[in-house]
Amino acid sequence: MDLPDPKLWWLLEQFRLLVNRSIRIALREDIRSRFRLAKVAYRTLSAEHEVYKQYIPSAFEVALGVLKNYRRRARQGKRTNVPYLRNPLLKAENQSYRLDRETGRLRTPIRGTEGVQLTLPLSAWHRSILQDPSWGLGSLTVTSDRVIIVVRKEAPAPYVPVAAIALDTNETSLDGVAVQEGEARLVSVHFPAVRVVQATHFRRRRRLARKKANDRRVMRCLLRREGRREHDRINQRLHRVSKRLVAAARDRCAALVLEDLRMPRGGGHGRRMRRRLSSWPQGELHRQIAYKALALGVPVIRVNPAWTSKTCPACGARRRDRVGQDFVCVVCDWEMDRQHNAGLNILKTALASDEALARAVRFRPGALRRDVVIPRYDLLAVPAGAREEPSGAESLAGAA
Ligand SMILES: [Zn+2]
Repeated sequence: MDLPDPKLWWLLEQFRLLVNRSIRIALREDIRSRFRLAKVAYRTLSAEHEVYKQYIPSAFEVALGVLKNYRRRARQGKRTNVPYLRNPLLKAENQSYRLDRETGRLRTPIRGTEGVQLTLPLSAWHRSILQDPSWGLGSLTVTSDRVIIVVRKEAPAPYVPVAAIALDTNETSLDGVAVQEGEARLVSVHFPAVRVVQATHFRRRRRLARKKANDRRVMRCLLRREGRREHDRINQRLHRVSKRLVAAARDRCAALVLEDLRMPRGGGHGRRMRRRLSSWPQGELHRQIAYKALALGVPVIRVNPAWTSKTCPACGARRRDRVGQDFVCVVCDWEMDRQHNAGLNILKTALASDEALARAVRFRPGALRRDVVIPRYDLLAVPAGAREEPSGAESLAGAA
């Protein structure tokens, strides 16, 4: 979006100056709280900048946020420059602006009775949220190329689960087990397209880097654009997966059990594997699942992933050596592919630590013993002929 109104541009520029002034004052006086910064700087800044007064505390908040990062980096001994806002910006609290939720007309004051008005282009998705009164409006951010309005909603209290879906997070799938009414099923959620997108962009980036090796500035710019595209394409695919997974859990009144990615899983990988794992946005997928679950009241339980891929869910024996494609127990004769095996252990860990879940869900891994061929269900499989989108290969592939 380009800013049509020079008055708005002036306001963004003023706000940028306010933030930079606040940063310098807060640094000089060693101020960390909004209250103290207001006490020291409000009078000076409101005399110097003739803007709507409520923008000044917003500028304090932006300044202190920036400084918090700066101070943390400085404390850790990392290289850092005194922060300085280069691009014009405006951040306003919800009482400072008016948004007509029907038409998308946005009005923000500039000073006195002067204001500026712009009409936001609303998509069907924007309208669906704006017309739902349970979404409240939060802060407004305007930059040179976009307008961001935060919406918020009171999260419903999570329901008491009567079932569980426990999943191990892998490169192109989530694998594990769904338990409900005493029946356990091995399930998977497939999203192979994510790796295809990643591989394509990885190749493209390498080619770009080679071709533009003698012009670092152009190379950086092109690489950044490539990275953004990759990011968008992957995120969009992850959103489809996370949305449907959370809905599937809600339909079954199930708790979602995932590994806690902040805990190291350990285990050595080769260089290629490490590159794939570190670039794979597992964290993003979990983040999406977490906030979507919160909005729908789906309880999410996170467990320590240590040993989940090296433990026998039937007898509890651990293997200390490398586990290949299949986990085979050396004590009992348990055998299962390592990904589903990890999912079973994730559920067992959750049952051992979460009493509410243990009361609701009975799980005997023995029932999944490989005496008979166990079908694997695609958790999100849609009935044949009901393809949701043209490239829905992620969720349709590999059922059973
Ligand atoms: Zn065993």
